[in-house]
Amino acid sequence: MRDPRYDILFQPMQIGPVTAKNRFYQVPHCNGGGYRDPSAAAAMRGIKAEGGWGVIFTEQCEMHHTSEITPFIELRLWEDKDIPQLAKMAERMKTHGALAGIQLAYSGINGPNLYTKEVPLAPSAMPIRTFTNDPVQARALDKSDIRDLRRWFVNAAKRSRLAGFDLICLYGAHGFGIFQHFLSRATNQRTDEYGGSLENRARFVNEVIADMRDAVGDTMALTLRVSLDESIGELGFSNAEVREFIEMNRDLPDLWDLAHGTWEDCSGPSRFKDESAQEDLVWGIRDLTSRPVVGVGRFTSADTMVRMIKSGTLDFIGCARPSIADPFLPKKIEEGRIEDIRECIGCNICITGDMTMSISRCTQNPTFMEEWRKGWHPEKMNAKGDSQSVLIVGSGPAGLEAARALSLRGYEVAIAEARTELGGRVARERKLPGLSAWGRVVEYRQYQISQRPNVETYFDSHLDAEAILEFGFQNICIATGARWRADGVARQHVVPMAMDGSVPVYTPDDIMEGRKPSGRVVIFDDDHYYMGGVMAELLRGEGCEVTIITPSAYLSDWTLNTLEQHTIHRRLAGMGVNIVLNRGVSAIAGGHVVSTCVYTDGEQSHGCDAVVVVTSRREENGLYLDLKGRETDWADAGIRSVRIIGDANAPGPIAWATYAGHRYARELDEPDRGDALPFRREITELAAD
Ligand code: ADP
Ligand code: SF4
Repeated sequence: MRDPRYDILFQPMQIGPVTAKNRFYQVPHCNGGGYRDPSAAAAMRGIKAEGGWGVIFTEQCEMHHTSEITPFIELRLWEDKDIPQLAKMAERMKTHGALAGIQLAYSGINGPNLYTKEVPLAPSAMPIRTFTNDPVQARALDKSDIRDLRRWFVNAAKRSRLAGFDLICLYGAHGFGIFQHFLSRATNQRTDEYGGSLENRARFVNEVIADMRDAVGDTMALTLRVSLDESIGELGFSNAEVREFIEMNRDLPDLWDLAHGTWEDCSGPSRFKDESAQEDLVWGIRDLTSRPVVGVGRFTSADTMVRMIKSGTLDFIGCARPSIADPFLPKKIEEGRIEDIRECIGCNICITGDMTMSISRCTQNPTFMEEWRKGWHPEKMNAKGDSQSVLIVGSGPAGLEAARALSLRGYEVAIAEARTELGGRVARERKLPGLSAWGRVVEYRQYQISQRPNVETYFDSHLDAEAILEFGFQNICIATGARWRADGVARQHVVPMAMDGSVPVYTPDDIMEGRKPSGRVVIFDDDHYYMGGVMAELLRGEGCEVTIITPSAYLSDWTLNTLEQHTIHRRLAGMGVNIVLNRGVSAIAGGHVVSTCVYTDGEQSHGCDAVVVVTSRREENGLYLDLKGRETDWADAGIRSVRIIGDANAPGPIAWATYAGHRYARELDEPDRGDALPFRREITELAAD
């Protein structure tokens, strides 16, 4: 059972008129589903309730139609018609004794209103500040608009109560909520009683909270999420001013929810931010108020959580990503199963679901957002099917997740790995600069399968079709991964690019395996995720003179979705890497690389001693094809199925591989669904007219 050291985390805590059963506080987080996938989002929150969280919040909920953040998909509470879907979510949150919270957002200067076509309203008239630089400006709220807005907040609060929520979080952080826009001198340049002095800038939030207290404060707790340090220059709401604000308004909300400046700061990936990275900004704030304080910091360690409480830094342990990677984190601490915690790796793949308006995934928890769509539970597997044994070839994230999940179903599992360690690509990538936390993908699964009597691992076992036919396993799962291509094929070059052999060409695999260039190195990045930038960081750190060339307008373009693109560019520029954007590499010849402008076709020459091509990966599917070629021998060999999964099937990010492994394990021996859709989906009900 629970280690007494962690008892403090399980103390009930009062928040205004309500009491949380413990200090585990799932702060609001997006999921890429929102109003489009309400049942999927509700089921995901319900799983957190089962996992032991004391407080569970929705993602941001747009509280009035005059402020919305299309194309991003969050929740909406614009009229009574929206109540049922939110009530479903609140009801799921409240199972197992958790408190249900709703985050009300009025997006002000952050809401372009592309869907409602309303003119955005903000403290001051200025261009909308979004990821997408929409060509839209906001009108400054006049006094009657402010009165309206106060009333809209009260209406939303009453609807939230009707929906069954216990807490309301007013959003004033990450640059996204109007309370921050009023508090910050950057976005509030008013000269009336709502602008100027801090007292004036704090007037709006004081008024709204007073109104809401009158309306619902007897039964609902009101929390305020504020930015710890806006970090947008001199006029921004600084940490010193945040402290002054909290001291001046000690008892304003029932709880202070502290979140670092921009979302990029607050949800920094592990590549750039450690656990508890916001500690310095939070430290001491608790002494300025009599209200409890919650803060985040990608907390996955129970010891760090206890330190946060005992040191008087926080009252509640705020978690978004750690609660996604392991919805059962509190329960595992409570049951003394610390080693079973599936720790978040800080890759921010979950955030890409929101950024791409799809539906979120999690690298560590493939069941995230599939709780309703596919009926997947993060801790429970379906019962075993007819067959008994599975041979998994390859121990990368796909193979390891398949092994873990199949062992829970009760299959006899063997893993054959050609190398001498588990983990496939992760075993190598975790050694790259900033990526060590990614090793948790392997560590979690390695430990889990080590605890199971029905998984055997064989190293140094490079299998071919002949060997597999001899072994006698009933099901064969090919998870043999992929290798980086050396011929430059990706998006710019759809066939191998021109190379005359005058300079050596390396791939990320060469470098991870210790074959490294030196001197002047050109990296051609036509992959656009993290690998090109990581190679530049590694080689520059080892003394190479590095130029990275990409056809994109952004270095490591896709990392805009993982909220780290700016940090990557800043890091590499600071290290002295020469960053060449909007140019493709057209040829490698005569001891140099020729780059071509993607707009003008203008050519440039870059002298170099070596080239690294980070373009695309080729699936290692030879073994699978060999086995397929011998399908007539399967029955004699006792083989019932052969499947290929993960990067060997089609290369993708690590999260795609863990998902593929999990799916394989779930579906083995299950009836073939034919042409039926493999997940549940919600469709908007057609209007009668
Ligand atoms: P994924 O991301 O799909 O899990 P990885 O590339 O991470 O794929 O892992 C694939 C693993 O499979 C590597 O560790 C590799 O050594 C192993 N492997 C590849 N081919 C064979 C084979 N024929 N027999 C055994 N192991 C193999
Ligand atoms: Fe953590 Fe990555 Fe999962 Fe997000 S996707 S919760 S960052 S492991």
